[in-house]
Amino acid sequence: MEKKRELQVAALENGTVIDHIPHDQLFKVVSLLDIQKSVTPVTIGYGLDSKQMGKKGIIKIADKFFRADEIDRIALIAPSSQLNIIRDYEVVEKKKVGLPDELVGLVKCTNPKCITNNEPMRTRFQVIDKDNVTLKCHYCEMKIKKEDVVMN
Ligand SMILES: [Zn+2]
Repeated sequence: MEKKRELQVAALENGTVIDHIPHDQLFKVVSLLDIQKSVTPVTIGYGLDSKQMGKKGIIKIADKFFRADEIDRIALIAPSSQLNIIRDYEVVEKKKVGLPDELVGLVKCTNPKCITNNEPMRTRFQVIDKDNVTLKCHYCEMKIKKEDVVMN
């Protein structure tokens, strides 16, 4: 079974596989990444069997290597997902997406009175729970949970 998965991954010559996406978050990740605008081939796997997760989603994007801020966006929706970087049909790197300690300019503060909603400035959040995704606004201390995250 492991072998089969590796074969699916190896079908990409160059690009990125986002693996272990929670089943119910797959289409959120698809829409976040603007995949309908991709100019290179994309394969989306929905409801695949996973030993750890029961069901999972997977997205394979040819000739795409994510920037750090794009990885942060994926992590906000699917923090447990994993990136497999493929070069010349080989997995050259595997990494959990993970969130950094701080997010700058990526997420809106949900507090309408927050200075970031009233002045032309970038938002700043501390990531206080990386696994379940909880953020705290640097300016007004509003706490935002994963389901309430609105990205800029
Ligand atoms: Zn705030």
